[in-house]
Amino acid sequence: MSKYNIAVIKGDGIGPEIVNAAMDVLTKIGERYNHTFDFTQSICGGIAYDKYGEPLPQESLDICLASDSVLLGAVGGPQYDNLPYEKRPERALLGVRKAMGLYANLRPAKIFPALAGACPLKNPKNIDMLIVRELIGGIYFGEKGIRQGKLGREGYDVMAYSEMEVERIGRIAFELAQKRRGKVSSIDKANVLSTSGIWRKIIHDIHEDYPDVQLEDVLVDNAAMQIVRDPSQFDVIVTGNLFGDILSDLASQCVGSIGILPSASLGETTRGLYEPIHGSAPTIAGKNIANPIATILSAAMMLRYAFDLQEEGEAIEKAVEKTLNDGYRTADLQEEGLSVLGTKEITEVIINNI
Ligand code: NAD
Repeated sequence: MSKYNIAVIKGDGIGPEIVNAAMDVLTKIGERYNHTFDFTQSICGGIAYDKYGEPLPQESLDICLASDSVLLGAVGGPQYDNLPYEKRPERALLGVRKAMGLYANLRPAKIFPALAGACPLKNPKNIDMLIVRELIGGIYFGEKGIRQGKLGREGYDVMAYSEMEVERIGRIAFELAQKRRGKVSSIDKANVLSTSGIWRKIIHDIHEDYPDVQLEDVLVDNAAMQIVRDPSQFDVIVTGNLFGDILSDLASQCVGSIGILPSASLGETTRGLYEPIHGSAPTIAGKNIANPIATILSAAMMLRYAFDLQEEGEAIEKAVEKTLNDGYRTADLQEEGLSVLGTKEITEVIINNI
C-alpha cells in the first residue's frame, strides 16, 4: 500500500466545491487500488488575505513545499480587485509556482466525442492538442510598475526570456511530442518582439537534438486564427507565459467548455501543481452548478505525472468519459435532451463509474 501527501489549496469562489469533488474521486481511487491519499489544506488566495492579510502566508507555502504534490482549485474574486498588486489572490499562485520551480504548464485540450455538440466550431474533427506554456518567466514576472511618462502616468511590464528559460521549456515540448504525434508548433511574435527573436533561435537550436520531431513557427496572431480555423492541425504547442495563457482559454472553448480543461505544472522534480485552467468563477460560486471535471481530470494528471499511477489516472479519465457518454452534463455543457446535474451529483456519477 502506498501513501501520498497532497497539499490542497481550495482557494476562492467555486474552488472549494470543485476541489472537494476531486478529493472524493481520489479517495475512491485509493479504496479501489489500495492507496492512501492524505490531504493537508493550505490556505491561499483571497481567503488567506481575509484571514491573515496575506494571499500566501509562509505556513501555507511550507505545506505545499513539504507535500508530494499540490491540488489547487482557483483563487480570486471581484472583492479583491482594488487591492495593491502584492496583496491580490493571484499573487499567491505566482508565488507557489515560483517557489516550487514549476516552469512548465501542460494544458491538454482534447475533445470528448460526446461533447462534439458543445463545440462552437462547425467541423471540429479530432481536436487533441497539448499546450506547453512557460510558467514562471516572461511578462508576468518582469519588472513592472507605474511611472511618470511623457504623456502622463504610464504602466509598464517588462517581458524578458533568457536562453536557459526557453531551452528548458523547449526540451519538454520536444520530448512530449516524441510521445505523441511528433509535431511542435512554437508560437511567438518574432516579427515585433526581441524576446521572441531569442525564443525562436533557441527553439531552432535545440530542435537539432530532436530530428524525429517536426517544428513549425507560428506568429501568435495567426495561431489564434488557426486554432479556430482548424484546431486538429496542432499536436504540441509551445509558447511563453502570456501567449499560452490566452491561447489555452481559446483552445478550451473549442473542446466544449473551460470547465473540462485540466493542467499540470511541472519543474525538475515529480512534485507538481495540478489545477483546472479556469478561474474562481465567482458568479456561480456556492450554487452547486460549477463543472468539477477540469479539477477531477487535473487529479488524474497528478496520478500519472507525480505518482506514476497510469492505470489509476486512466480509470478517472474513463469514468469521466463514460459519464459524458451516458448523457450527463453540468450546466455549462447543457444540451437539449440531456440530464443536467449539479457539481455534487455529477461527481457521484463519476465516482460510481470508477
Ligand atoms: P473564470 O475562468 O473564473 O470564468 C470565466 C467564465 O467561465 C465564467 O463565465 C465562469 O462562470 C465560467 N466558468 C469557469 N469555470 C467554470 C466551471 N468549472 N464550471 C462552469 N463554468 C465555469 O475567469 P474570470 O471570470 O475571468 O475570473 C474570475 C476570477 O478568477 C478573477 O478573480 C480572476 O483573477 C481569477 N482567476 C484565477 C485563476 C486561477 O486561480 N488559476 C485563473 C484565471 C482567473
